[in-house]
This record gives sequence, structure tokens and C-alpha cells, in this order.
Amino acid sequence: MENKKEMRNWLNEFNLTHPFVIAGPCSAETEEQVLKIAHELKDSDVSVFRAGIWKPRTRPGGFEGVGEIGLKWLKKAKEETGLLMGTEVANAAHVKLALEYDIDVLWIGARTTVNPFAMQEIADALAGTKKIVLVKNPVNPDLSLWLGGVERLYNAGIEKLGVIHRGFSTYEKTKYRNIPEWQIAIELQNKFPDLPLIIDPSHITGDRNMILEVTQEALDLNYDGMIIETHYDPDNAWSDAAQQVTPTALKQIFVDLKVRKVNDVSEEFTQKMTKLRTNIDILDENLLDLLGKRMKVADEIGQVKKDANVAILQNTRWNEILGKMILEGEKKGLTEEFVLKMFKAIHQESIGHQEKVLNK
Ligand code: PEP
Ligand code: MN
Repeated sequence: MENKKEMRNWLNEFNLTHPFVIAGPCSAETEEQVLKIAHELKDSDVSVFRAGIWKPRTRPGGFEGVGEIGLKWLKKAKEETGLLMGTEVANAAHVKLALEYDIDVLWIGARTTVNPFAMQEIADALAGTKKIVLVKNPVNPDLSLWLGGVERLYNAGIEKLGVIHRGFSTYEKTKYRNIPEWQIAIELQNKFPDLPLIIDPSHITGDRNMILEVTQEALDLNYDGMIIETHYDPDNAWSDAAQQVTPTALKQIFVDLKVRKVNDVSEEFTQKMTKLRTNIDILDENLLDLLGKRMKVADEIGQVKKDANVAILQNTRWNEILGKMILEGEKKGLTEEFVLKMFKAIHQESIGHQEKVLNK
């Protein structure tokens, strides 16, 4: 991995020439497990070793973490490897213990970020700390809740803040464990460009075979770092077995990842981009022009329907259009998902236009 990107605020202190990496098992299981994985990650791009000590489980009965004793193991791992240590905290008691054991990075899990009471309790317990504090996105796709968590910590005088994008839960089964909804993280990045943004491909995918692909997507979107669950025996891990990678696989991911530059100021790049962007601008104008024309026709249709006293929505006709456009779109390299979204939006606008005419 190589990185030309300018790192921001607290990340600068790491003086990295590559994205920031947090890695380690989902859960601390035994002292041997913690030490063995930490040693395998020691001489790599990893800056922070992660291990869950208190595990929030969706349903009771799962492994709920080893608790305080795990903090002793992390302390030992830090002494032996020099890696910084990170763990999840979910309440004031966790914070107190983590600080007592000098944990370097504390993160707030997705099931905690959703709860403003819990966030405030944690912010109060952490007030003024010089530790790095990272806020995972809430389980539901709500940007304000995510930002609210960050704001509570910021207001408590915590300066070394960052966010972790771990995806959002859905009722339907998808290829992801938690769908990324990239636009939410991009919006956050636009609003707070100085807040380091870290991808958690492990909890987004739930599948070790998809880690590289999702991490690459994040780096292509200028993310600052990654947190990747790593275990020497993933299949027998006590939690999140399917998504953990071995230290060897993690190091291969570092080799395979391509880090993009934020920009290139060379003449050649600028010229090529200017030409292509001019092209895009012209095409966008044409798109708007065509859409405007399409809506004028919709107005006329509205008038004809009004004169004949016919309802606006003609379901069979609409389904025919959609089916045809999906096929046409495919020929032009457009995904079915995009064609559906686009035509639904166009249809909605068209109905709005017709409704105006009908009810004039
Ligand atoms: C974890 O990092 O192991 C974890 C529990 O993550 P999340 O809060 O994203 O579910
Ligand atoms: Mn996990």
C-alpha cells in the first residue's frame, strides 16, 4: 500500500505513507489468542490492534465477551508488540476501565450510536480525554444520529475524533451483511472533511471474500483508513467467524489495494480532465433539455386525459415502458437498478405535471 493523500489532524501524528489500519479479532478470546494475533500483525501496515472485550449481541446466548481480564491481555500485547490498542465501549463503566488500562483507541459500536442517552453518558465519561475516539454509524441509515454522536463527544472536549462506516441493517437479505449506503458516508465526508473516515468492510460484508472489494471501493472514495477483523483461525472464532481474515490474508489485501491520489496537478491530467468534464457538462445540459421536453408532452397528455375524464395512472402502460427501458438500458451498459430508479423518478415528476393540469 502506498498513499500520497494528505492525512488530517490526529492522523498526521502517525506519519503514515499508507492508509491508517486497525486490525485484530472481533473478540478477545484467550490471552494466547490475543498475543499470537498481535505478534503476527506487528511488522505490517497495522497501527492499532483491535479486540472486542464487551460484545453487544443481537440475541442473548452468544459469546458476550471476556470482560475486564481481556484488558490485561491487551496491555500485555501492547508491551510486547508496540501496537496501539483499541476496543469498543458501550457505557460509562466500560470507559472507566478502558482508560484505567490505558487503551489508546475507543470506539462506539453501531448499537450504541443509535441511543443518545448512551452516547451522552459515554461522552461525559470521556470528557477531555486525549485518546482517539471513533464513532461507528448507527444500525439505521440516519446521518443526523451519526453526527449527533460525534457532536456529543466534540462538545465534551474530545479532539481526536473519527468515524467508522460499518453499513446499515436491512430486513431484506442482500449480498451484504449491512448495506453500505455509500452516499450517507459521502455526505458526512462533505460536511466534515477533517473528520477521518474509516471503512469497516468486515461488518459491511460479513464475508471474508468480499473484504478487498469493499475496502478498495472505500479507498476510491478517499477514505482515510480501515478496520479489518483478523484472526489466525477465523473459522473457529467465537464471534463473526465468516468475516474474519488471517493475518497472512490481511497482508495480501495490503499488497492488492490500490491507493488513489486525491488529485493530480500535472498538465496532462488537467487537460484530459477538462476535455472530459466539458463533455459531461454538455451532456448534462442535453439531459435536462430532454427531460424538460418530456414533461411538456406529459402536460399535453394531462390535458387530453382531463378532457376525456380519464385517470392519470395507467399501470399496464407504465410496466411496458419499464420492461422496455431495462432491456434498452442494458444494451447501453446501464444497470437495471439505475434504469428503474431513474424512470421511477421521471414517472413521479410526470405524474406531478399531469396532476397540475388535471386539477387546474
Ligand atoms: C465489532 O466491531 O465487533 C462490532 C460489534 O461492530 P458493530 O458495532 O459495527 O456491529
Ligand atoms: Mn465483529
